[in-house]
Amino acid sequence: MRLTILLTALLLSACSQPPPITSHFLAFGTLIDLTLQGVDQKKADEVTAIIEEDFRLMHHSWHAWDPGPLGRVNRLIPSGQPFSVPPSVLPLIKIGTELAEQSGNRFNPAIGQLISLWGFHSSDPSGWTPPTDEAVQKLVQANPRMSDLTFNGVLMQSTNPTVDLDFGAFGKGYGIDLAMEHIKELGIKNAILNAGGDLRAIGSRGGQPWRIAIRNPAGERPLALLKVQGDESVFTSGDYERKYEHQGKHYHHIIDPRSGYPAEGTRSVTVLHNDATRADAAATALFVAGPDEWFQVAQAMDIRYVLLLDSDNTIHMSPAMAERVELLVENPTIKISAALK
Ligand code: AMP
Ligand code: MG
Repeated sequence: MRLTILLTALLLSACSQPPPITSHFLAFGTLIDLTLQGVDQKKADEVTAIIEEDFRLMHHSWHAWDPGPLGRVNRLIPSGQPFSVPPSVLPLIKIGTELAEQSGNRFNPAIGQLISLWGFHSSDPSGWTPPTDEAVQKLVQANPRMSDLTFNGVLMQSTNPTVDLDFGAFGKGYGIDLAMEHIKELGIKNAILNAGGDLRAIGSRGGQPWRIAIRNPAGERPLALLKVQGDESVFTSGDYERKYEHQGKHYHHIIDPRSGYPAEGTRSVTVLHNDATRADAAATALFVAGPDEWFQVAQAMDIRYVLLLDSDNTIHMSPAMAERVELLVENPTIKISAALK
């Protein structure tokens, strides 16, 4: 009798955990999935509508080439005169400056002109041709950096007229951080906010870790699986996300600020960190740093979990990542960097 009651109670508690509810909407040019565990449909719809509105505002504020707050900042920078920075843009400038510095400017959100020169400030790929080397070198010589921006209260001015802000490498991470804080404030304990494969997860999936697949640029099946729990973010930068083709050659969207050309030697980098903003900026920075110096940049950016797939399909990992990742590729060539503690 007692056993029956106990079993019934256990079964009821298992059944009382409703399945996760996933909703989708578009923002930052990508499909956003919001998965909530442990809430009913009404609450899920309410939370999704609020978060969708957050993303709509962020998308407008930080768009690199549409008119809006960031567009206004970029229009005023070349004047060299002080002007007030909109509150929606200021925190990204401050955080972007710190992360750029830590990455040794591998991550450099001041190179908007270079990104535009390569055609990535447009959604129309028709008739694309690569820029001339002369135009690229001119911008590399001009050396725009976040540290060219100086502040006096909320007034900002640039000592370099070629600074042009592009938040493409960390805006999604910052947006996910802001939205996840809002989701927590709405009383949610277990959720994943996933923007095209980049995500932050809180809590768990009914007591089990969330299982995250990492895309393989070289194949259909995922490269690896990662289990995340508590409050963790997983961000990947890949050469497959945005690219152009010209005379049989591919040109992707992650630009090495030192050469002015798409970064070479890397196919994708996945970073796991508590903070989505840092994970996003670091994935881009380590992509640029490449297989030979990623671990130095990871150390400087306080990143412990890295998986980098290089152009020869060798998988480079930090020891901490090697311990928790489940690789799904057959006979992989693996290099674990002991240099990263
Ligand atoms: P992600 O996919 O996070 O690596 O970000 C790539 C986007 O960031 C590009 O589409 C550009 O808008 C921008 N970007 C490209 N190269 C860099 C770089 N070296 N530093 C900062 N932003 C970059
Ligand atoms: Mg990034």
